[in-house]
Amino acid sequence: MNSSSSRRNFLAAAGLAIPAAGLAKPAAEKPAAPKSEVKDGPKFTYRTLGKTGLKPTAVGFGCMITSDQSVIERAADIGITYFDTARGYQGGNNERMVGAALKSKRNSLTLSSKSASPTKEQALADLDKSLQEIGTDHLDIWYLHAKSKPEHLTDGLLEAQNIAKSQGKIRFAGVSTHAGQPELLPAVIAKKHFDVVLTSYNFTMDPGMDPLIQQVRQAGIGIVAMKVMAGGFRRIKENDPNFGVFKRDGAMLSMLKWVLRNKNVDTTIPSITDLDQLDQNLKAMSEPFASGDEKLLKARLEMLTPLYCRMCGACEGKCSKGLPVADLIRYVSYADGYGEFAMAREQFLEMPENLRTVRCGDCDDCSIQCPNGVRVFDRVSRAQELFA
Ligand code: SF4
Ligand code: SF4
Repeated sequence: MNSSSSRRNFLAAAGLAIPAAGLAKPAAEKPAAPKSEVKDGPKFTYRTLGKTGLKPTAVGFGCMITSDQSVIERAADIGITYFDTARGYQGGNNERMVGAALKSKRNSLTLSSKSASPTKEQALADLDKSLQEIGTDHLDIWYLHAKSKPEHLTDGLLEAQNIAKSQGKIRFAGVSTHAGQPELLPAVIAKKHFDVVLTSYNFTMDPGMDPLIQQVRQAGIGIVAMKVMAGGFRRIKENDPNFGVFKRDGAMLSMLKWVLRNKNVDTTIPSITDLDQLDQNLKAMSEPFASGDEKLLKARLEMLTPLYCRMCGACEGKCSKGLPVADLIRYVSYADGYGEFAMAREQFLEMPENLRTVRCGDCDDCSIQCPNGVRVFDRVSRAQELFA
């Protein structure tokens, strides 16, 4: 990463360089967020999800990598009100577990799932399967999963969401995106179709994300933030120079607080795998982002820079062997950052064989220089070493 890029990103991350408009109170923002407090427990804050009128807790629960059902149950018991899953998570098993965990509270919660299918018919079949696995007659939000280009928002998929709404199977139509936001989000607004956007958003990302998110929010579309922990990486190795910094409580919490200080973000879905993590995340609703958090994030950025792909899209189509570089680095992050080897390998193996058999070691020189400092050759080689 060159020093100016590094500095620009960190200044943005620390809130020192974000355009004033990016964090300004939006005109459409609802009145002061209501607050409540669980007796002898954490404080909860609630934000209104765009024009949906839903008021989920500002910290929700991304269930993608959770394997302990009791953590989801505990979160619902103590007051978290938004839970997210997807048809494809954990080989289709995640929805079933989430449904079982939330069964007794279903009607008091906001629940979302997603379909990555490319056609109307397949997406609607996915929805029926999701409802069956979760054990509910409707979803509050149904996302078109992982879209990154305007052409992914096909008439057929939009029609599928309209049909699902008219049948009462979903309340609100959403779209999720890991990458391509500068192109995709204006198209989402222009469609005048979507109620909610689920987008990657964290302190490592380009400051240009803030005005984009604001535009979406001002169009009345709810904003849910994911990838808020920038790839996880909770299990930092003892020989890492930053071990002392991250070992103590705080780095993950600082990242979540950084996201929540942007009032255009309505709620967040950090992945949560254990009760310690749940307790820590809850604090983000009552503690402000402060100078100590900036220090932690600065150190965190140094550690993440060579590892974590911001999904900026700059390397798309640049691999001479046709590899989907950003996706491969994301899979490695699932393994190294979240400790989810099986899920990461499963996604790797879904690639066509001609891509699975490519080896970076056979290239004379890597044709990709990541402007964000990710060591592309190292990370993609690691994906091949781990999963192929
Ligand atoms: S590897 Fe770098 S250039 Fe490619 S998408 Fe990730 S951050 Fe952008
Ligand atoms: S080294 Fe790997 S990522 Fe780089 S161009 Fe070659 S195959 Fe693509």
